[in-house]
Amino acid sequence: MSKVYLIGAGPGDPDLLTVKAQRVLRSVDVVLYDRLVSAEVLAVANPSAELIYVGKNEGEQDAVQQVIFDLMLDRARAGNSVARLKGGDACIFGRGGEEWLHLARNGVQVEVIPGISSALAAPALAGVPLTYRGVSRGFAIVTGHCAGRDPVDWADYARVDTLVILMGVKDRAHIAHSLIRAGRREDEPAVFIERATTAEERVRDATLGDVAAGGVEVESPAVFVIGAVAALRAELAACAAVEVLS
Ligand code: SAH
Repeated sequence: MSKVYLIGAGPGDPDLLTVKAQRVLRSVDVVLYDRLVSAEVLAVANPSAELIYVGKNEGEQDAVQQVIFDLMLDRARAGNSVARLKGGDACIFGRGGEEWLHLARNGVQVEVIPGISSALAAPALAGVPLTYRGVSRGFAIVTGHCAGRDPVDWADYARVDTLVILMGVKDRAHIAHSLIRAGRREDEPAVFIERATTAEERVRDATLGDVAAGGVEVESPAVFVIGAVAALRAELAACAAVEVLS
């Protein structure tokens, strides 16, 4: 039986694919890819590979997930090498861990190829260092999905220096409001980085209070960063020699 490669595609720009991901993508027989995988990254794949889109829309996640499990097993058992290509890093959200476990439980060999997560790439390109001596000792990457089986208790995260929230556009006002209620300052800097590393990338600067009041217009997908480090981008942008996303 052949292998399944669980590959992180990075945030969109094909230059941010790892060398290993490129090498494997050029050689596999089948590529199963998600909604957030860019056309430029897909173009790297072996031209004779079978490309299968398995993106999920809201409401159909569980049904599509079962189809993905079945397709991966089916193609691998038929002797194909399979790339399971996911945006960013395959093990940060997007149910990569579940797919890995499902394959392993079914006796399929898996090789993980880490990717550059949007959680790291988007802030870095926008001039927001996630750690900074004396300002941010650390950060947490948290889901912004506030409904569902396992809702986030924002009070648990309110004391982390820097918060990096993925999938948080829809519930941004609720998140900001909950963090303020748990003790964060209304004037704390926040930033949304939309569609990082694509032609449509855009950055929205705000304060936590603005976001809580519903006054910040943002489109998904975006990385939502909260913390004093978000203010550093203005200073970096003011330096003529530095280019940050705007
Ligand atoms: N595995 C992915 C995350 C999947 S969850 C990773 O490591 O990046 C999907 C969320 O990721 C989106 O809702 C958004 O918050 C974020 N995201 C992914 N790609 C992005 C991009 N190019 N720009 C901004 N946010 C992105």
